[in-house]
Amino acid sequence: MANKVVVAGGGASGLIAAVFAAENGAEVTILEHKDRVGKKILMTGNGRCNLTNMSDVHGKYYSSDDVSLEKIYDTLVRFDAAKTRAFFQKLGLYTKEKRDGGIYPVSEQAAIVLDVLRSECARLEVKTITDCALTAVEPDRHGGSLRLVHYIRQAEEQKKLTAANKKDKAKNKKSEIISEKKETMRYDRLILATGGKAAPASGSDGSGYRLAKMLGHSIIEPLPALVQLKCSGDYFKAVSGVRAQSDLTLYIDGKPAAAETGELQLTDYGISGIPVFQFSRLASRALYCGRKCEVGINFISCLSEPEQEFSDALMKRHSEKPVEELLAGLVHKKLAAVVCKKEGIAFGTTVSQAGLQKVCGCIRLLSDFRVQVTEANSFENAQVCCGGVPLSEVDKEFQSLRCSNVYIVGELLDCDGICGGYNLQWAWATGAIAGTSAAIKK
Ligand SMILES: Cc1cc2nc3c(=O)[nH]c(=O)nc-3n(C[C@H](O)[C@H](O)[C@H](O)COP(=O)(O)OP(=O)(O)OC[C@H]3O[C@@H](n4cnc5c(N)ncnc54)[C@H](O)[C@@H]3O)c2cc1C
Repeated sequence: MANKVVVAGGGASGLIAAVFAAENGAEVTILEHKDRVGKKILMTGNGRCNLTNMSDVHGKYYSSDDVSLEKIYDTLVRFDAAKTRAFFQKLGLYTKEKRDGGIYPVSEQAAIVLDVLRSECARLEVKTITDCALTAVEPDRHGGSLRLVHYIRQAEEQKKLTAANKKDKAKNKKSEIISEKKETMRYDRLILATGGKAAPASGSDGSGYRLAKMLGHSIIEPLPALVQLKCSGDYFKAVSGVRAQSDLTLYIDGKPAAAETGELQLTDYGISGIPVFQFSRLASRALYCGRKCEVGINFISCLSEPEQEFSDALMKRHSEKPVEELLAGLVHKKLAAVVCKKEGIAFGTTVSQAGLQKVCGCIRLLSDFRVQVTEANSFENAQVCCGGVPLSEVDKEFQSLRCSNVYIVGELLDCDGICGGYNLQWAWATGAIAGTSAAIKK
C-alpha cells in the first residue's frame, strides 16, 4: 500500500517534496491555505527567480550552531545546485548561469518555475487543495489525523447559486472568504513545509511554528533576515534615494562582525541594498540579544589613500570652490551636504575658508561614516527568516525526532542563506530529501 503523504504548504519546499514523494510511489496531497500555491516563488529574484547558485556553499548559510551548519552542508552535498538544475531541466525548464554563479530560468521569469512544478504535480496526480489551512495535528502510531479549515469564498457560493447561469462569469472570480468549514484528514506521513514568517502576504504567516510546537519542537525565535536596517540619524530623510557603491563593515558591540561591498541604498529610515541584506541577519539577531550594532560605510572606496589625494596641491587648485562642490566630485551631492553639516562647514564655505583640516575631516567621514542600527525592518519587508525549528530536532532525512512520521523542511527550519539563490536551494534540497523518505519509509 502506498504511503499517504500530506504536505502542508504549497511553497518551494512543499511542491518539490510532493513531486519526489509522488515519484517514489506515495499518494500525495498538498494543503495550501492561500487561494493558490507558490505565491512566494513568483516574488523571487524580482520576478526572475534566482533558483539556485553554483558557487561553493560554505560560508553562505547561517544557523544557531556549528553542528547545524555541518548538517546544512551535508544536505547540500546530497542535493546540490547541479541536481536542482538537472531536476528543473527534466521538467522542461532550461536555466542559465550568471557571473556570480546564480542560476535563473533562461526566460528570466519566475512564473515558469511555478508552472513546471504545478504541471509535474498534476502529471504525478498530486492532489492540491487550496484555501485549506492545517490548524492542528494529532499524531498516533500509524501517522495521525489533521485538523483542517477550508475557506469558502463568495465566488464559490456564487458559483453554486448560478451554476445554471454560465454567463455570470464575472461573479465567479476569487473573492472574499465568507465562511469556513472544518474537516479532519488522515495521514501516514506529514511534511510540514509552511515556511517562516517572512513576506506573510505570500502565505507564510508563522502558523508552522505553532504546529511544530504542538508536536513537541522548540523554536529558535524567528527574526527578519535579508532585510533593510533602520538607523538613527536626522539626516536620512535628506539622503533618501541615494545609491552608492560602498564598502560596509558591520560592528557588533564595537567589533567587526562582517564586511560587504556593493551598492548601498539610503532610505528615509536607514540602509538597504544587497550588501546590507547580506549581513542583516547578524544585526537582527544581535539587536534581539540586546547588543549594539553599528555600520561603518566607506563611500569613497574608489580612492586608495583619500587624505593624501586631497593634499595641499588639490586644495590649492580648488581653493575657491565651495567644499560641498569639491566633495560632490566624489559622492552624491546630498551626501556631500550631510558631511559638510556634520563637520560644521556652512553651505557655500570655500575650501580655503574651511581649511585643510576641516576638508580632511569630511574625507575621513566619507571613508568611515558610522550609522547606529536601531532595528531590522519588519517581516513584511524581509526575504527570509532566521531561526525556526532547530536542526538538532530532525534527522538527516528531515524527519522529526520529536514526533514520528512527521518531516520538517524549508524555511521553517533554523537555516537561512545569503542572497543569491541559496535559500531556494535549501527549500529544494530539504523538500526533495524529505519527500523521497516520506514515500519509501515503511
Ligand atoms: C521578495 C522575495 C524574494 C526572494 N528571492 C529569492 C531568490 O531570488 N532566490 C532565493 O533563493 N530565495 C529567494 N527568496 C527566499 C525564498 O523565496 C524562500 O526562502 C523560500 O520560498 C522558502 O520556501 P518554503 O517552501 O520553505 O516556504 P514558502 O515559500 O514561504 O511556502 C510556505 C507555504 O506554506 C503555506 N502555508 C503556511 N502555513 C500554512 C498552513 N497552516 N496551512 C496550509 N498552508 C500553509 C503558505 O501559504 C506558503 O504557500 C525570496 C523571498 C522573498 C520574500
